[in-house]
Amino acid sequence: MKLGFEEPQTQYSSGSQSARAWTEQWVRTWAYCPNCGASKINPFPNNSPVADFQCTECEEEYELKSQKSQFAHKVLDGAFKTKCERLAADNNPNLLLMNYDLKLLSVTNFLVVPKHFFVRKIIEERKPLAPTARRAGWVGSNILLSQIPQSGKIYIVRNGQIAAKDSVLTQWSRTLFLRDQGQEARGWLVDVMKCIEDLEKNEFQIEDIYAFEDRLSRLYPGNRNVKPKIRQQLQFLRDRGYLDFVSRGYYRLRATT
Ligand SMILES: [Zn+2]
Repeated sequence: MKLGFEEPQTQYSSGSQSARAWTEQWVRTWAYCPNCGASKINPFPNNSPVADFQCTECEEEYELKSQKSQFAHKVLDGAFKTKCERLAADNNPNLLLMNYDLKLLSVTNFLVVPKHFFVRKIIEERKPLAPTARRAGWVGSNILLSQIPQSGKIYIVRNGQIAAKDSVLTQWSRTLFLRDQGQEARGWLVDVMKCIEDLEKNEFQIEDIYAFEDRLSRLYPGNRNVKPKIRQQLQFLRDRGYLDFVSRGYYRLRATT
């Protein structure tokens, strides 16, 4: 993998147009499929409304978002309605995020958010476009990146350093169990994973997670059994090898690398 962009053959009229051509060309040349390890992912033949690339080996779909500056806590995305429909039908694409340096003409960060981290709550509805806008009334969406746990942000390139492919594939497979879960069950798991991460320690006690009871109650106002629900998620995460049970009430996160 090389991080530099190739000079395009065509001259583009705007900076954003050429950046788009560079980033897409880079993905076509260097990006591998984090799901099956195939050495290339291919652009969709026609302009698909939500996905940009597909792996011909395993058929995983990817959407690419790229920008100069680092992604903050939100990423602008497509039509809200389409997003929700694809989420409900479980055929939303994985998300590839790229930051690049226009002076060096190269990739700084390149990460993938596996589609199984997309739960309804991380898709935010934007205000309809103003009546004066070309697409007046159109409703877009934001992806709330800040609500996705770190295990759902897998860096292929980080601060100009290329991660080992093996490690990327391991990190990817580590959370695939989320795919077998329905939207609601997945929502709970992702939220508890985020709580564990916010502890910033590899070993913790069940009480540490109970301390997030208020936060989780706000997220699930209809649920009056938050503590049993937390226990259930921890057990599930243990059964799927995401964490280990050390002794009664004590847990340890499995190492990723
Ligand atoms: Zn693949």
